[in-house]
Amino acid sequence: TWKQNATLRDDGYFELRTADTGDVPVRLFVTPKLLAEAEPTLYRQIVNATRFPGTKLVAITPDVHYGYGVPVGCVILTDRNHGSVAMGPVGFDIGCGMMSARSKVPAELATPDRKLEFNREVTKRVSLGAGGTSIKLGRLSEKDFQDLVRGGAEHYVEAYGASFDRSRAERHRIPVDDGWDIPWGGKGSPERGLDQLGSLGGGNHFIELQSCEETGTLFVQVHTGSRGFGHGLATNYFQMAKEERPEEISDLDLGFFTPESKHFREYLNAVAAGGNYAILNRLVIYEQIAEAFRKVFREELELIYEISHNLVQAEDHPEFGKVWVHRKGATRAFPAGHPALVGTMWEASGHPVLIPGSNHDHSYILRPEPGAEKSGYSVNHGAGRRMSRGEAMRQLDQRKVDDQYRRDGILVNLDGRVPLDESGQCYKSAEEVVSAVVSAGLARIEYTLSPVASIKG
Ligand code: 5GP
Ligand code: MN
Ligand code: MN
Repeated sequence: TWKQNATLRDDGYFELRTADTGDVPVRLFVTPKLLAEAEPTLYRQIVNATRFPGTKLVAITPDVHYGYGVPVGCVILTDRNHGSVAMGPVGFDIGCGMMSARSKVPAELATPDRKLEFNREVTKRVSLGAGGTSIKLGRLSEKDFQDLVRGGAEHYVEAYGASFDRSRAERHRIPVDDGWDIPWGGKGSPERGLDQLGSLGGGNHFIELQSCEETGTLFVQVHTGSRGFGHGLATNYFQMAKEERPEEISDLDLGFFTPESKHFREYLNAVAAGGNYAILNRLVIYEQIAEAFRKVFREELELIYEISHNLVQAEDHPEFGKVWVHRKGATRAFPAGHPALVGTMWEASGHPVLIPGSNHDHSYILRPEPGAEKSGYSVNHGAGRRMSRGEAMRQLDQRKVDDQYRRDGILVNLDGRVPLDESGQCYKSAEEVVSAVVSAGLARIEYTLSPVASIKG
């Protein structure tokens, strides 16, 4: 099989060379066990990733699984002078990502009563589910909305008096051109985002109270993205990409724009605006959770970091030069001294990397190591799915799963009923996945987190 063409190198990753991938280096940051278990369909998707015009590197992260056109858990570097910006490798949830916060509250104080109270107080302030709307901000006027998606976290802190330190967001403000207009309406209807800023969304988006092994205290982690706004933008531009190149782009999910395309700049603006929305969504939710936390534990939460795992960004790479870095279910990992961190609070340490596992497994906060250069300065974004939603619903027993969580002291939502298709068994072992990036020298573990109370979207 294709796996026989993957050779393990001394510096800790597999290099894949086949006739299909041609000259494009493909680096698989997986353990031998994860490679052996990888789905056979993965190969086709890796080949897709190498085929976008101007691709210079494809890096596969250990949480990899089947995705939209290209795998989830994949990093694609394209030439910034002549190459393409690809859309599947950003996906529909533009800017989806993570937020982590810590506290000084000893983990033992999270008694069963307090867990329930916490989940209750959070759900009073953050609405859940695909159609959830913002409790904090309500429906924004178009003017306020435009100012937010263009001004990002920077504008939010100034105009709304937010309390957090915006240097704890990966991007304070992703620049959006004044001349770009939001493509309202269409099939995607990005206007859905007007009243959703500060809502969690559905599926695997979550809010989780965790205990930290290294500090013995309570942490909070959030996973959410750009809601209907990002989804609407992506949908509309996927449509435009296909209309522009009906022959070349056989599948909607393999859409891309080259610098000559009419919509090239527009799409980058959409990613920027969607990215800003996702960042803001996490920060608004953070403030809501901090209020709930204060009420229940009478202590402050402190924002650690906020970072996306679905974006394309302009970066400079020592080996590949000026590139567009697409991270599709992958997290940026700039180590200490990386030029982009100079002058920031992360210059001497590298920025934190927020890695969820599952609501029945460890999650992690990592710090990038110099070796991250090999993977286009990227690591995984989670443990990665290993069981499909359908399989989970067929194979898992609701009572057994709920009982297991109860025995392990993990409260899910308000009633302890675990969404089976989002339960721990649906995901790979977070420890195994993280061991792959640690052993390849991409990052080290800073905090090891365990779920205490979980809220699923
Ligand atoms: P994705 O961004 O691909 O939708 O998912 C990110 C990752 O989040 C998944 O690969 C999985 O490892 C992790 N994850 C999903 N649900 C939960 C949860 O409820 N709690 C935690 N801690 N991690 C989760
Ligand atoms: Mn998402
Ligand atoms: Mn995500």
